[in-house]
Amino acid sequence: MNNEEILVLSQELNNRKTELMLELKNLNSDRHRENKPLDKDFSEQAVERENDEVVDRLHEKVSQQIQQINEALERIKQNQFGFCSICNEPIPDKRLQIVPFAKTCVKCAD
Ligand SMILES: [Zn+2]
Repeated sequence: MNNEEILVLSQELNNRKTELMLELKNLNSDRHRENKPLDKDFSEQAVERENDEVVDRLHEKVSQQIQQINEALERIKQNQFGFCSICNEPIPDKRLQIVPFAKTCVKCAD
């Protein structure tokens, strides 16, 4: 990837990060609802717990994505983006287009 392509990618990553942060904020406010006492109805309780689990899983997934974006942005800043963190060989553009967060080449990923 040339510098221009990396610049475009980092802008995309920043945009994506903003979206994810918003999503995380919404998930957090969803989670805060669990502080209210559970509904007395047993089936209602089960539904609420299930919902909490879904929110927790989503929360974890979104947090991980933000983390990956932060790491990719950090690698861009340090001019390490697009290079395998294990063998230091350039990661093929094709792989970066599919997995922009890839830290390693296909060989080292195995
Ligand atoms: Zn490698």
